[in-house]
Parts: sequence; structure tokens; C-alpha cells
Amino acid sequence: MFTATLKPKRDRPTRLGHPWIFSGAIDAIDGTPALGEPVLVRAASGEILGVGAWSPESQIRIRMWHFGKETPIDEAFFHEKLAAALAVRAEMATRFNTNALRIVNAEADGLPGITIDQYGDVLSGQFAIAGAEWAKPMIVRELMALTGAKSFYERSDVDGRAREGLPQTTGLLAGEEPPEQIVIHEGDVKFGVDVRKGHKTGYYLDQRESRRIVASYAAGRDVLNTFSYTGGFGVAAQKAGAKSVTHVDISAPALAQARINTTLNGFAEDSATFLQGNVFQELRAFRDRGRSFGLVILDPPKFADTRSQTMKALRGYKDVNLLGIKLVEKGGWLATFSCSGAITPELFRTVVAEAAHDAGRTVRIVQELRQAPDHVEALTFPEGLYLKGLLCHVE
Ligand code: SAH
Repeated sequence: MFTATLKPKRDRPTRLGHPWIFSGAIDAIDGTPALGEPVLVRAASGEILGVGAWSPESQIRIRMWHFGKETPIDEAFFHEKLAAALAVRAEMATRFNTNALRIVNAEADGLPGITIDQYGDVLSGQFAIAGAEWAKPMIVRELMALTGAKSFYERSDVDGRAREGLPQTTGLLAGEEPPEQIVIHEGDVKFGVDVRKGHKTGYYLDQRESRRIVASYAAGRDVLNTFSYTGGFGVAAQKAGAKSVTHVDISAPALAQARINTTLNGFAEDSATFLQGNVFQELRAFRDRGRSFGLVILDPPKFADTRSQTMKALRGYKDVNLLGIKLVEKGGWLATFSCSGAITPELFRTVVAEAAHDAGRTVRIVQELRQAPDHVEALTFPEGLYLKGLLCHVE
């Protein structure tokens, strides 16, 4: 194994178990490891700190596979890591009454850059970094054996691959071609998932628990489900007895799937409204027409990819929340989310407070929401918390 030696005083994050080592912290590498190859990491004193994956083209030059003494990074190593990830989730399918879970959550499961969702018999995964690409054949073999899944589909069409010197790639990795529609369920709500054409690995499992909680506020109310994607919150709300549901999304394929998901749950296709458009414009149009709703859901995409985009993102969140809050009828509910890792829960709360102030409404938080529990967080990797939400009463 090649050895990367850190600069003096730059070993503290690694000693505390943080999985990332930036190029600026590395003093020397004693050769030219291949893309993603494991390297031994030593402190300036020579002490061994662990083994990580080498990303020669990325600012994050090493991601740690293992902390402590030198160990082979081989199939047996990945078998153990994957078995541990599955053990954490052993009771979750039953606990959350679902057949769809995030079974590998990258850094938080000690497997940097590897994100794998299970939809029934189908695994759908992203291999985002050089080390993940290097480990891919072993991960695929082990996970097919451990889960007994019928298919493993790859969705490594992620922007981050370019920073790692990797091309984007999608397609079948193992097993049989997955069906066009995989029907999953969250409690008694059904959703069709298309792992080939859907966003990310096909679907947003991270909102599962929030969909359940928010839907429990929907009975008898007019529900506005913005950034609906394939219907998520709105279909759950309809199933929970909403008076009406209006979905808004910019993507026609997402709304086509939302229609399918509506009928999958026993409702007529015209039982809900599917509005294709830009949420910012559609919210203004509702305001101008004096429309209001008893429950408004705001689940925008990531507005900030990096910390430098935080200011722009904050304006986006402020705008959408201001427009959204204005549409909530007196005594109604607001569920508002941010999935930008760069926006902390405190910052998000401040933005919503400013929006409420500008809207001239009294907004009280009844519950803070987070990414679903199968999207585990490592204590040593606070960057892993990205999705946060506020469920609010609006006066
Ligand atoms: N709430 C969804 C997930 C939302 S993902 C769920 O529970 O599954 C974000 C969605 O916002 C995507 O479907 C994307 O197409 C949509 N989107 C992004 N920008 C938009 C805009 N300006 N107006 C409307 N929709 C937008």
C-alpha cells in the first residue's frame, strides 16, 4: 500500500474519526496510487491513523475506509461494513411498515461515496467517488448475496463524479433488468418507482417519516403540495382524508408518475390537481387569485451545493416561505423543508422566522422534522445532516 503522510498538526480531524482528508493537509505520498486505490494514512510522527481511498483529482484527496491499524481493504472488509449497515436497519422495514429503505448511507455507514436504496427486490445505487468506483464490484457481489435482491441498478449520474475524474454511468450492475414500475409502500400508501428515469436513485426515501407525520394534519383540509415530484406528500395527504390536493412541479414526467401514484392508491386520476409550472410563479398566481390552503408543503430542491452559494440559497428559501406562508389559511399548517447541507437547522429557522415576519403572520413550530432514520448520521460526520424541516401552525 502507498503511504500518505499528513502535515504536522493536520491530523486532528482524522484522529477524531472524520472521514475526509483535504489535499492541503497532506505532506507527501510515496508514489502514484491508482484512482480510488486504498492508501495508508500516517501522521507526521509516522503513527498509522488508518486506511483511506485515494482521490487524486478531488480537493478531498482521501476518504477514510478504516481508522486504526493497517488492514486490508478487500471483499471481507466490505462484507463486514455492509452487514453492519444492514444490522442497523434490521427492524426498520417492520418499524416503518415499508419495503423501501436506504440501506447504505455513504460516510455515515463508513462507506464514503456509496449510497444504496432498496426498493422491494431492487437495489439502486450511486457510486460518487473514486474509492466507491474502485470498490464497486465487491460491493455489488456482497450486497446481492446479503440482501437476496433480484436486481442491482446503477445511477451514478451525479455531478460529483466529474470532480473525481470519473464519467457518469448508469445501467444494470447485477441480476435481472428491474421492472419499469417498482411498487413500494410507506405504511398503506403506495408509490411507483422508476429506477432508470427517476431522480437520484429513483425516489426520495428521506422524506418517508415526514410524509407520514405531515399527512396526519391533512384530513378535511385543502392541501398544496409544492415541489411534489411523484406526489409524495400529496398522495399521503389524500390517503389521510384531505379535502383536496394540488400538486405543483416543474417536471412533466414527475407529474405523470404522480398521476399513476394517485390511481395506485385507489383514487380517480382527476381526484387531484396536477399543475406543471414554476412554484415561485404558481404561488404568486394563487396569491393574486386569493386562494388559500389548510396545509401547505414546501419541499424545494437543494438551493445551495456549496457554502459559497449559501446567500443565494437563503434568498430562495426566504422567497418560497414568504409566498407559501401567505397562502396558509388562518389556523392552518405549514410543512417547510431544506435539503441543503450548507443551511444549518438554526439558519433555516431564522429564514422561516423572517418570512413569517414579512408575511405578517404568527407561525409556531409544533415539530422539527429530519431525514428518515434509515438515513443514519455518524456522530463524527455532521455534514451528513442535510434534510431538515419545520411543521408549523400559522395564525
Ligand atoms: N416532495 C417530493 C420530493 C421533492 S424533490 C417527495 O416527497 O418525493 C424536488 C422537486 O422540485 C423535483 O421534482 C423538481 O422537479 C422540482 N422543482 C425544482 N425546481 C422547481 C421549480 N422552480 N418549480 C417547480 N418545481 C421545481
